Order: sequence, then C-alpha cells, then structure tokens
Amino acid sequence: MTTTHEFWLAGRRASGDADFEVRHPHDGSLVAKVSVPTDAQVEEAVAAAAAAVPVFAATPAHVRAAALDHVSKRLAERTEEIARLITAENGKPIKWARGEVGRAVSVFRWAAEEARRTNGETMRLDTDPGGTGRYAIVRRFPRGVVLGIAPFNFPLNLVAHKVAPAIAVGAPIILKPAPATPVSALVLGEILAETELPVGSWSVLPVPNEKMPALVQDKRLPVISFTGSDKVGYQIMDSVPRKHVTLELGGNAAAVVLADWNSEADLDWAATRIATFANYQGGQSCISVQRVIADASVYDALVEKVVAKVQAQVTGDPYDDATDVGPLVDENAAKRVEAWVEDAVAKGAKVLTGGTREGAAYAPTVVAELPADAILATAEVFGPVLSLHRVDSTDEAFAAVNDSAFGLQAGVFTHDVQTAFRAHRELEVGGVVIGDAPSYRADQMPYGGVKDSGVGREGVKYAMDDFTYERVLVLTGL
Ligand code: NAD
Repeated sequence: MTTTHEFWLAGRRASGDADFEVRHPHDGSLVAKVSVPTDAQVEEAVAAAAAAVPVFAATPAHVRAAALDHVSKRLAERTEEIARLITAENGKPIKWARGEVGRAVSVFRWAAEEARRTNGETMRLDTDPGGTGRYAIVRRFPRGVVLGIAPFNFPLNLVAHKVAPAIAVGAPIILKPAPATPVSALVLGEILAETELPVGSWSVLPVPNEKMPALVQDKRLPVISFTGSDKVGYQIMDSVPRKHVTLELGGNAAAVVLADWNSEADLDWAATRIATFANYQGGQSCISVQRVIADASVYDALVEKVVAKVQAQVTGDPYDDATDVGPLVDENAAKRVEAWVEDAVAKGAKVLTGGTREGAAYAPTVVAELPADAILATAEVFGPVLSLHRVDSTDEAFAAVNDSAFGLQAGVFTHDVQTAFRAHRELEVGGVVIGDAPSYRADQMPYGGVKDSGVGREGVKYAMDDFTYERVLVLTGL
C-alpha cells in the first residue's frame, strides 16, 4: 500500500481533503500520495507564522543552533533512507542522491555555526563634529516570515538552503516544495518536528501552483526566496515589487578550455569533469555544463576525449550504484529536450553522440556546429546535452561566455594566474571556477547569478543576510 504523506502545518502533521501522486521517473511507479492543504489550512499556517515572528526573533541563539545541529545529525543518520527517497521521486542516480543528503547535512551544520556567531558591528560616529560623543551599534533583525519556494532538481538540499538560514536568524518559514518532489521536504519536516523550535516557526505546505499567486501576494510574507525557472521567478518578482525577493534561476553554464590547458593529463581532467557535469543529474542542474568553449589548439583532442567519456557513462536504473545518468524528471521534459536537439539538427548542428530518447530518459548527447539561431544555443536545456564551440583566443572565449542572457557560473581551465584574475574581472557571472567545470559548488560559498540567472545569493551566511536587515542604534552623550 502506498503511503499518503501528510504535510506540516505550523510544526504539526495535518492533512487536507485531496491528494496528488508522486511517480518515479524511471518506471512511472507510484512513490507516494501527498495530501494538499485546504485554503483554510494555508491561512492557518500563514497566521501562525506571522504570530511567531516576535517569538522566534527572541529565541536564544543556543536554541536555534541546537535545533540546526539536531537536524544535521538526524539527516546524517537517515542518509540512506532519504537518498533512496530522493532517487524515488526525482530519478537522480543513488550515488548523487547520497551526495545531496551529505550536502544538506553540511548546510544545517554551517547554519548552526553561523547562528552562534556575533551578529552586527559597532561603529564610531565622531569622525565629523556632529558625531562627537556618539557611537553606533548595527544589528541585523529578521525581515519577517520567509516564503521559500523550491525546485525539483535538488529536493532536499535546495530546501535546506532556505530552511536552515531562516532558522539561524529566527525568521519563520513557510516552505513550498516542488510538486514532482515534495517527499524529501516532508521527511525533513519529521526531523524538524523533533526540535524545540517555536510553534508556527515552520510549515511545509505542498500548495498547488495555481494557488501560489495568492500566497505570493500575502502581505504577512514579506520575504520570498525562490529557486526555479526564470519565467516563474521574474513573474513573482514583477507581481510583488515591494517585497524582498531573491531569485535563484537557470543558466547555460560554459566550460572554457584555454590554449595553455594542453597536456594529456590536462585534457583528460577537463574532459572528465565536463562529461560528468554535463550529465550528472540528467543535466538538470542550474550549473550543468551546457556549453564547452575551447581554444582551436586543443579543440580536436578535447572533443575526442569528451565524446569517449560521455559514451562510457552508464545510463539506466537510478537505484543501481553503477548508474551515472538517470532519467529526466518526466517524459515531457525528455520530449522537450528531444525537440530542441531536432531543431538544432534541422538548422545544421551535428550530433557526435546520443540524440535518442526512451521514455523519460534522454541519452547523454554531444552536439557540434550549433547554429546561433537554434533554441539550444540560447535557452537553458536542463537536459544531458552539451554543445561544443571552437574559438581562436581568450578574448573570443570570454566574449562567448558573456554572450548569454544568463550568468550563473563559469569554469575556466587555465594554469595562468593572470588569466584567472582576468576571468574573475570580466565574466558576467556569480561565480568563476578555475581549473574545473562551472558546476562546482560548496554550500557555504555565495551562490547565485546575474542577468536572467537571478537576484540575491544563497550560501548559508549570504541567505541569512537576505532574510534580515540592518537596524542601527545611535548612542548619544558618550
Ligand atoms: P519551476 O520554476 O517550474 O518551479 C519552481 C517552483 O515554483 C516549484 O515549487 C513550483 O511549484 C513553483 N511555482 C510554479 N508556478 C508558480 C507560481 N505561479 N507562483 C509561485 N510558485 C510557483 O522550476 P523547476 O522546473 O522546479 O526547476 C528547474 C529550474 O530551476 C531550472 O530553470 C533551474 O536552472 C532552476 N534552478 C536554479 C537554481 C539556482 O540556485 N540558481 C538551482 C536549482 C534549479
């Protein structure tokens, strides 16, 4: 019998009067049914969160830190079980699902550490005559309830990136998981329910998309932390211009291989990393390698290695430890990717390997000679498709990286420190990774984009800054 998962309303279990199904992308089997909150239950959660604002803000740091440490420890203890749930609902290979749980363990641990740090700064004001005898203390205070909206591709860790910093600063959070992958977030709720966090400080509500605009508009939720597509993200931001909205959106990340990255070992490493991170979640990561921009002097040797490594990837059952590439989130996603590759081929692109679909699985694919008017050349593919581009100089390579509506991260394979600094200065992205693919992310780093890739930064400390604001205390007569 399939479990029907209840949701979490103000820290306790509840169920509504309808439910929806979550299916395993690999074989379509039923993973779980999930109960949908009624409008009255959503209202109850919002009212409870609003009422919890002063209570949670006044909760001592040691209580918040202890709760975060508890979550980190329990996630670690339940790694295998939760990893299997992630694989069940999302379809990502089990080895990557285990890695995702490990990252969430770290996110909660860092949040516990950050919660214990001194908050704020002091400032002298007597630098001008009017400030004589004055001194200032600057502290950060929560902006209010956070509405966290999460995507399907990291059902646990991108939820952790919203929940952990909110708890660390004492801001109540209402979390809305993605409809395809709500189960991991609901299991995280089981662990949160073991803590002593105040009533109303957290809810996990699988609200249907069509009910979200009303929640987004609710004035009791002044902060919206959204991770997902640029389309939905900017629609939200435009609909609530007076709210504090952070958007972690998509990209078409580039890996640049420059002329000095030319030894056999160099090219092996670059090809391994490019092949791995083009396809590791079926390409469904916002920093998957979508474009390879290689200097003409290394292009042919690199392409040969990339194609060989892509062909060696094991595809299939995501529960198999050996599987490198699983299915996409559903068959429609795979059909969209298929249509985009067909569009590219019709316009003159060459498929070097892959280009086939079986149900929700799209074969890891490498495309060369991609014309600029193909959809694949400009949009985010969010599938296991890599395009190869030959350039004649570093100038041309960096211009190609920047010739994109997106700007999340870029990887630059170079040994030259001057070029590394130049990449940092010139590339229009939120992060530059030297000597590796653009897909490297440590969860404590500031992470986010420019241009259509979004606004604001995650990474525990940076999200904590986003969920709070500075309030200054001026002392006179000192
Ligand atoms: P999506 O935009 O379809 O959905 C994201 C979330 O928004 C889901 O929870 C969805 O239910 C919700 N939603 C849908 N309509 C809504 C509405 N009208 N109002 C409020 N919420 C609504 O994205 P997805 O398909 O789940 O995720 C894939 C996208 O996420 C890709 O573009 C990917 O690049 C991006 N992403 C970005 C990052 C990052 O940190 N920059 C990380 C992961 C994924």
